[in-house]
Order: sequence, then structure tokens, then C-alpha cells
Amino acid sequence: MSIEAGTLYIVATPLGNLGDISARALEVLSAVDTIAAEDTRHSARLLQHYGINTRLIALHEHNERQASGGIVRRLQAGESIALISDAGTPLISDPGYHLARAVHEAGLRLVPLPGPSALTTALSVSGLPTDHFCFEGFLPAKGGARRKRLEALAAEPRTLVFYEAPHRILDTLQDMRDAFGDERPAFLARELTKSFETLRLTTLAELCEWVAADPNQQRGECVLVLGGAERRDDEEGLPDEALRTLAILREELPLKQAAALAAKLTGEKKNALYKYALEQENSDD
Ligand code: SAM
Repeated sequence: MSIEAGTLYIVATPLGNLGDISARALEVLSAVDTIAAEDTRHSARLLQHYGINTRLIALHEHNERQASGGIVRRLQAGESIALISDAGTPLISDPGYHLARAVHEAGLRLVPLPGPSALTTALSVSGLPTDHFCFEGFLPAKGGARRKRLEALAAEPRTLVFYEAPHRILDTLQDMRDAFGDERPAFLARELTKSFETLRLTTLAELCEWVAADPNQQRGECVLVLGGAERRDDEEGLPDEALRTLAILREELPLKQAAALAAKLTGEKKNALYKYALEQENSDD
């Protein structure tokens, strides 16, 4: 495979099982001039496993803005560089966004090498709807801010995906139970692709109790996937966001046009929006 000069390769690496690296990723990591890694010692062990001796430099959340300039200059000088993170796909709850932006802005080339991510891996086995989902990454570490964020998500109809640190999993599950209720479908994906991989689809109440009763479930890396909120039966089952959109448009447009445009913007049914707006206006009279 030919490596292009002045190109940044964004390379996904395994989540745990080293067999999950792609043949193309190995070729690129061997052939580039430099690999920018989140933790060079961690990645050195990974590269050693595959017999790759490419030079490593550090790019982590604390030096990213400053290091990006240096990496762009190296690319401008004709180097080829690969970006990897500790595990999975760079930029997915990992550093690299500022660098990718700077490379685009400098008019240089980026090449993605797709592969594992805990997000898609967990979703793929969750048994929950995946046609629409919303990735929340890590919740705030502090209890108050976390509960506030969860409350704001309580009516979200899409499947929700969260990353969480093992020492917070119990508190987070308890806060989720308070915000979303006992019966919300909940899926835990722990230690994906590793020896102690655990997958459990149940309800929030049961998952909370199961994790609390088994300290082994409070270790390792985990993803939590929750079913979305059931659509409400009142107001023709229209979500709050659609009602807000309709209200804003109604201030500027005739009812029929406002309903049609709100339907286009939100994906809700035009007739349901029209009927709702009509009822509102009749009840206001
Ligand atoms: N960039 C990574 C990706 O593509 O998934 C995510 C990096 S983020 C800093 C680390 C979080 O990803 C962990 O706290 C955990 O929530 C999730 N994660 C990473 N590896 C995992 C695994 N093997 N099993 C379950 N979750 C994992």
C-alpha cells in the first residue's frame, strides 16, 4: 500500500482483542513516518506486539492544541503521520478533533482507517433500536451535574449510549434509574472483546441491583445503552421538540404552512401537527 506524503491517517485500533486490528491499519502504522499517540508507552506495547517500530510522538488532551501546530508543520514538510488513541477510534471521546480541524484548515489530506469503537460495538449487540441513537459520551463526573444532564435526556426518544468509568457505574445507574424510571430497557456492555466480556439486556432497576450485588461488574470498561423514552400518547404523540418548532413557525406563518414546514424539519406527520395547532388555536379562542 502506498503512503501519501503530507497526509494524516486516523487509525482505529483494538478495544482489547488484538486480533481486531485491520490489515490496512498494520500497513499504514508500519509505513508512516510518525505515529501520534495518546499515551506513547501504552501504544509502544501495542506496536511492539505487531512488530512495528515507527517513531511515536504524544498527542493527548493536555497538549493537543499546542501539538497540533507542530504536526501540521511536519505534514507540510512532507511527513506522513498516523493518529491513534489508547483503544478504539480516535476522536470518539478521545483527542484528535483540534488536530483534524487544523489539518483540514491547512488544506492537507486526512485518510480514515475505520475499525473498532466501543460505541458501535456495544450498539451492535445491544438488542435495542439502532436506526436512530444519540451518543452522550461521558456524563459529568459530579453527581449534581450528572443528574441534571440525565433529567434533560429523560424524554429523548432515541436509544442513548453512554461511556462510563467503572468507579462511577453504580452511582450513574442509580441516577439513571431516578431520571428514567425502573422499567427503562438498559444494556450493559463490559470489557468488550476481552476475556471477561459481559453483555446484559434488562431493565434499569434490575441492572442496578445486579451490578450492586456483584463487585466484578464494577470493574473494567463499560458502555451503557438505554432504550429511548416511549412517545407520549397525548398531543398526538408529538415530541416536545416538534411542538416547539411548530410554535416558532406559527408566529411567522399561516397554520397550514407552519405545520407543513414543521413536519419537514422534525420528521413528524404533517396532519398530526396541523391537528394539534388547530386544537390549540380553538382552545385559545
Ligand atoms: N475512542 C474509544 C472508542 O472508539 O470507543 C473510546 C475512548 S474513551 C476514552 C474510553 C471509554 O470507552 C471507556 O471508559 C468505556 O466507556 C469505553 N470502552 C473502551 N473500551 C471498552 C471495552 N473494551 N469495553 C467496554 N467499553 C469500552
